[in-house]
Parts: sequence; structure tokens; C-alpha cells
Amino acid sequence: MISETILDSRKIVIKIGSNTLSNKEGILNKDFFYAFSKQVKALKDKGKQIIIVSSGARIAGVSTLGKWKRKEDLHYKQALCAIGQVELMDSFRRSFKDEDILIGQILLTKDDLSDPNRTLNIRNTLFTLLDEGVIPVINENDSVSVDEIKIGDNDNLAAMIANLWNADLLLLLSDIDGVYDKNPHENSDAILQEKITDIEKLKSEISIGESSSFGTGGIRTKIEAAEKVTQYGIPMILACGKTDNIITGLIDKTEKGSLFLP
Ligand code: ADP
Repeated sequence: MISETILDSRKIVIKIGSNTLSNKEGILNKDFFYAFSKQVKALKDKGKQIIIVSSGARIAGVSTLGKWKRKEDLHYKQALCAIGQVELMDSFRRSFKDEDILIGQILLTKDDLSDPNRTLNIRNTLFTLLDEGVIPVINENDSVSVDEIKIGDNDNLAAMIANLWNADLLLLLSDIDGVYDKNPHENSDAILQEKITDIEKLKSEISIGESSSFGTGGIRTKIEAAEKVTQYGIPMILACGKTDNIITGLIDKTEKGSLFLP
């Protein structure tokens, strides 16, 4: 069903988590960007429009500077994101350039998505970029957002964008190939939940464990994102972005994921 869902969708929001973009040492994985842009090009060639929501500014900052990793001071964290966001976009720009695709950056705060005028402007910018074949790459503007006024995680941001754009599909690429009944990193017998039609039931049946150090929301925010989009009739797929050519694999049915249906 995952394959059919992707093939049937014309407007797709793809969210990439920090762990997907980086390797074990916490450094941006350049190979990922090149492999990812090729897969997006293949989707574009199938007539699909793509919006990317990407995390990873902080990890890109750490990987560029090689320091400040453990600084907990808010200003350092925000400065790190300011440095890292440029590196992140540079990685996207270079890899998409190889596919002859232009990208455009949009940085958002929670306020932008609660103000009707700003929301309209965001929509118009997105539509213009997409109509011109440019791929928008969206991230939360971490250098200006503080905890109290933050969306806080890109799973929820991606869901909001999917709803705003009236997307046909939200695809979350994480370091895990789906939702399990318990944290698979701690339990080798955890079972992948491949098709979810009742999120309330899922929540009452699974246990949620810790996420890795650079992930922000863990599996909880992925389920929140699924709740947000399925409410508006948009399906969501959670799959492992660390798997080589994951999108192609999902289409070819050689890879698995979790599919949340409205
Ligand atoms: P991302 O960086 O892609 O946003 P996160 O690290 O924040 O990813 O969240 C995914 C992580 O959530 C998984 O790697 C896993 O360690 C953890 N997790 C906890 N409970 C579960 C569960 N029941 N099913 C799947 N993953 C879980």
C-alpha cells in the first residue's frame, strides 16, 4: 500500500530528521544529500511536486565548527544554528545542482503559521517556487525562536506545511523504519506497525522510548504529525532515511515503513 500511496500522490512533503543527515560521529553525511537529490529528481520526473522540511542546522553547525556541541547556553545554540543552516543549505544546493534543480530556503517560526497574512504569504511563495520547478527547503528559524514560542520539532512543522499546502502525502524520513510496539533500539523483539488506521489505538498499545541525542521529538512527535495530517485526509509514511535509496525502495516494495491512513 505504501508504494501505491506514493505513486498516487502528486504533492509530497518530505521531512528529513537530523539523524538521517548525519553519520555516527555527528557530522553531515554528504553522500546522503547526493543520493537524496537523485531520488527527488526521480519523483519530479514522475510529475510530482516536492517540498522538503529539513532539520539538521545544529548538527551542521557542530560539524562545521567542531566545538560548542555541549554548550547549553541558548545564545550559543542559536548561533550554532545560524552557522549550521548555511552549511545545511549549501549541502542541499550542491547536490540538487547536480540534478539541475534549484532550491529555495524558507525559515519559519510558530508565529508565521498562526498569522493569517503571513500564512497567505508563505502559501503564495511556496506555490510560486513550485510552479517554477524550484524545490522549497523549509526549517524552523531556530536562531530567532525560543522555547516558549517554538513549534519545537520539524515533524509537527512538516505536518503543518502539508496541511497548508493541501499535500497528498507527508513522508517522514527518520533513523527508524517505522513505529514499533516498543523502542526497537532497546528491544530486539519489537514489531513494526506497518499500517495504522486508528492512531488513538496505536498510542494505547505501544510504548515510547528515548530518541537519540540529535533527534528532537522522537517517535512521539511523529505520531503527532500523523494525527495532524490524517485529520485533513492526508496520509503519512514514516520510513528510514538512512537506508540507501529508501524512496525508490518503498516504491519498488523492497523496503518497509509505517503507513498512517486518514
Ligand atoms: P529524527 O531525528 O528522524 O526526528 P528521532 O531520533 O527524534 O528521529 O526519533 C526516532 C527515534 O525514536 C528512533 O530512532 C527510536 O530510538 C525512538 N523510539 C522510541 N520509541 C519508539 C517506538 N515505539 N518505535 C519506533 N521508534 C521509537
